[in-house]
Amino acid sequence: RAKKSLTSSHQYYLPEMAQQLSSRLTLLRKLGQDFAQHKLQLWYQPQVSLQTKQIVGVEALLRWPQDNGDFISPATFIPLAEYSGLIIEIGDWVIQQACMQIKQLSQLGFRIRIAVNVSMQQFRSPNFVQSVMDNINHYQIDAKQLEIEITESIVMDEPQTVIKALQQLKAIGVNIAIDDFGMGFSSLSYIQKLPLDRIKIDRAFVANMVNEVSVAKSSDQVLVETIIRLGKKLQLVTIAEGVEDAAQQQALIALGCDEMQGYFFAKPMPATELTRLLQQKIAANKIS
Ligand code: C2E
Ligand code: MG
Ligand code: MG
Ligand code: MG
Repeated sequence: RAKKSLTSSHQYYLPEMAQQLSSRLTLLRKLGQDFAQHKLQLWYQPQVSLQTKQIVGVEALLRWPQDNGDFISPATFIPLAEYSGLIIEIGDWVIQQACMQIKQLSQLGFRIRIAVNVSMQQFRSPNFVQSVMDNINHYQIDAKQLEIEITESIVMDEPQTVIKALQQLKAIGVNIAIDDFGMGFSSLSYIQKLPLDRIKIDRAFVANMVNEVSVAKSSDQVLVETIIRLGKKLQLVTIAEGVEDAAQQQALIALGCDEMQGYFFAKPMPATELTRLLQQKIAANKIS
């Protein structure tokens, strides 16, 4: 049996796999070094009310700049950080940065919510909830201005661990959002058990929502409509991710979606740029 599996294709495949593994380990080592040297950045993407068009919040997104000016995608390095456990330290830093940013913005007169993505490994870490609370206390911010984003898969993984942590965070006022909603296969009964505030509609559905060639509703439009209805039934705020054009924005308004996030309004940006954008918006409002 063992002999049979040693085909010629495996002889090519094995060194390839070994090489992939070694380059992943190299990347992970570099991530650890760069994190220790404070080279990771947290960028912010605005979330906008579809009624008022005001910025009501931002999502904090990790950025890993390289010496050549490029960025390595979170889709590449987050799984490595999760696998190695480094995400616990990085995630702590993300929450600390977000709380600090809430503080700084509030000192400038801006009250906006900041959402952070949280991985399963963080929930499993026994200090997670306490560490969030410590940051809120340290920066003396209103817990309602902090939002935790979780994915469906996280909830499915270890529902009891996650639900308990979320309930503790909810009790002090932290907002909870379910990210990439519609992509997982979570049973709807979970959704009811979670202390949620917001549903983030996955951008895959938003992308295919508007069908220009046909007047008939696309299946993704039906899906988006269903999620928005579900949100209303459960008294949750709905926010569409990945809104890239005016047609999508219009369709979402027509369906009664509450908020949007996407390149159509703004891409993720460094904190200094976010501050500038908020100041410009204030100035524009004062004129009109
Ligand atoms: P996510 O939480 O679903 O974040 C939204 C992603 O969609 C971001 O990708 C954002 O840049 C991108 N996006 C926003 N608007 C548009 C749009 O209009 N069009 C398109 N095509 N894309 C848009 P990003 O920054 O590459 O992050 C990818 C994922 O990495 C995130 O997905 C999140 O799951 C994870 N991630 C990022 N930062 C963190 C973090 O601090 N902690 C953890 N655990 N995960 C993170
Ligand atoms: Mg997210
Ligand atoms: Mg998302
Ligand atoms: Mg995602």
